[in-house]
Amino acid sequence: MAEIDLHLHTNQSDGRLTPAELITLVAERGLKVVAVTDHDITDGLEPAMAAAASHPQLTIIPGVELSTDIPGNEVHMLGYYIRYEDPSFQATLARFRDVRIGRAQEMVKRLADMGMPLEWERVQEIAGEGAIGRPHIAQALIEKGYVGGRQEAFDKYLGRNGPAYSEREKITPEEAVRLVASVGGVPVMAHPGYTDDLENVLTGLVAAGLKGMEVHYAQYDEKARAELAEIAERYGLIPCGGTDYHATDVEGEHLPGEIGPPMETVERLKALAGG
Ligand code: AMP
Ligand code: ZN
Ligand code: FE
Ligand code: FE
Repeated sequence: MAEIDLHLHTNQSDGRLTPAELITLVAERGLKVVAVTDHDITDGLEPAMAAAASHPQLTIIPGVELSTDIPGNEVHMLGYYIRYEDPSFQATLARFRDVRIGRAQEMVKRLADMGMPLEWERVQEIAGEGAIGRPHIAQALIEKGYVGGRQEAFDKYLGRNGPAYSEREKITPEEAVRLVASVGGVPVMAHPGYTDDLENVLTGLVAAGLKGMEVHYAQYDEKARAELAEIAERYGLIPCGGTDYHATDVEGEHLPGEIGPPMETVERLKALAGG
């Protein structure tokens, strides 16, 4: 068990727990520092911090995970210690969420064209008020019996290069780095092991101001983590990480704190915040 987990989702995006439920869980599991990192939304942060007030040993880092597409790949950018209240930042996130709606509708349309009609109202209902995403569509596909489970939905239809996938607004990973920095946050590349041609991508991102990348990531084995640690070191990037917990009922999902970075990582992130 780690004491730190810097990658957690709530029902404000595609996680299943409310921010308060997530905080209760991480407190019970003995975590000391966690970052709440919903996709393109920060509305979970204040309820999470309010819930953490009754757990004095627990610190919440305000975070976000921004989605970007590059040819053939998607890159997710985490931002830590963001001044999330910034009105212009919030307006940008609201625009990203609007784009997500159109994109989800497009994916639903493609699925219908492939003989798998879904009710849009049901997809919206699954997504709730926050940021809509592919896991919500996957859930609707499961309910209709078109697929047996979430992974099948991604493998067959919704994955980055799948037949129902629709790209989002073209914000580049570099723009995401700058957006995080514009609100005093520390930009960190999420799950870099999913990106082809990683070192080439990193070179551009470091030039744009990238400060860290995930190394201690739950879905990577020890060998992959060792390789990523070496790359992070070589590019001068702070090794971060966490479980990317969504509270899906998928068997074998890693629970908060099963893996995470050391306290030194938090100290280094904190030292860069606000700059
Ligand atoms: P979206 O925000 O709509 O792009 O969906 C991103 C989310 O979908 C990620 O946070 C993952 O939870 C999930 N996801 C993306 N790709 C896959 C995949 N290939 N297999 C399973 N889940 C995935
Ligand atoms: Zn997610
Ligand atoms: Fe991600
Ligand atoms: Fe995530």
